[in-house]
Amino acid sequence: MSVDIHTCHRPPSGRLRLNASSRVDPSRTTMIRLRFIREINKRLNELKRDIRISIVDRDCFDIQPNALRRLSPARYKEFAFERSADKVQAFMAWLEEQERQGILHVSRRPGVHIGIEEAWTDVYIDSAYQRGLRNGRSRLRAAGYQLSLFDEVPGGIQAVMGRRFHADRIGVIYSRTYEDLKSVTQFMNAEIRRRISDGLTTGLARGLAEGKSPLTIARELYKNTADRVDKIGKVRARTIARTEVLNAHHEAQMAEYIQAEQELGEPVMLDVVLGPNPCPICVDLEAGGPYTTTQAMGQLPAHPNCVCAHAPVDAGKTRK
Ligand SMILES: [Zn+2]
Repeated sequence: MSVDIHTCHRPPSGRLRLNASSRVDPSRTTMIRLRFIREINKRLNELKRDIRISIVDRDCFDIQPNALRRLSPARYKEFAFERSADKVQAFMAWLEEQERQGILHVSRRPGVHIGIEEAWTDVYIDSAYQRGLRNGRSRLRAAGYQLSLFDEVPGGIQAVMGRRFHADRIGVIYSRTYEDLKSVTQFMNAEIRRRISDGLTTGLARGLAEGKSPLTIARELYKNTADRVDKIGKVRARTIARTEVLNAHHEAQMAEYIQAEQELGEPVMLDVVLGPNPCPICVDLEAGGPYTTTQAMGQLPAHPNCVCAHAPVDAGKTRK
């Protein structure tokens, strides 16, 4: 009896779809060949993936001098322990190590006496602070204050930022940003631990009882875990990034105004300049101005994502 393979098997997908002329296969080996070829593709694709990870991600040939050290997924059956508790334990230890290499990475560069630690987040705080100094200085000059440009200062803005006055402030924001990111990660980990733990015990038992395949159960466990990365890790880390960039900017600008008062020996009065679509808090702040630098300190950002700024009142108007 001759059986048309399309009546008893799902049609092969993608590029391996058979054309009409090969539909009749006296050797009846079509499925074997398809499976064989699929396995070849799978194995060669894995090889390709490993080559990509080696050359691109892990920079095995040292082509990319500043390449980040990439994370390393768990090895095959790496946490194949008897007890679920041991599996969870080992997985969490692995996860925390991945986080130390990635989201919480700190590099050490040689310093004069001891190594200097730099979190990867520092560079963004640095840029935001620098932006705040420049904005502050150009607003002061626009208001008629006689101050030199940062580029006229020996060593430029980098030298200015290196002064104790600024370096201390930047340092506080560096560590606060990093510590906040660390707290978010810890909270995310606690949630992941719970989901992995549930998934390996009740979840696995329920899944099998419901007739789900182990692959489906594994995929669900991954989805439940990734969900915590997206909804806790990403969401909260983004808030930290936005908040601390604005904080760094505002603090730098205020530091610049205070510095100017000291340098010029006269008070600098400040107005609140509203950002687009200002909220009632900021509208009230604006109406209540101008402020002395002491009054204005800590006013902004008034709330998360507040992009309002302080700008000096014209120099002439302050000197009544
Ligand atoms: Zn605002």
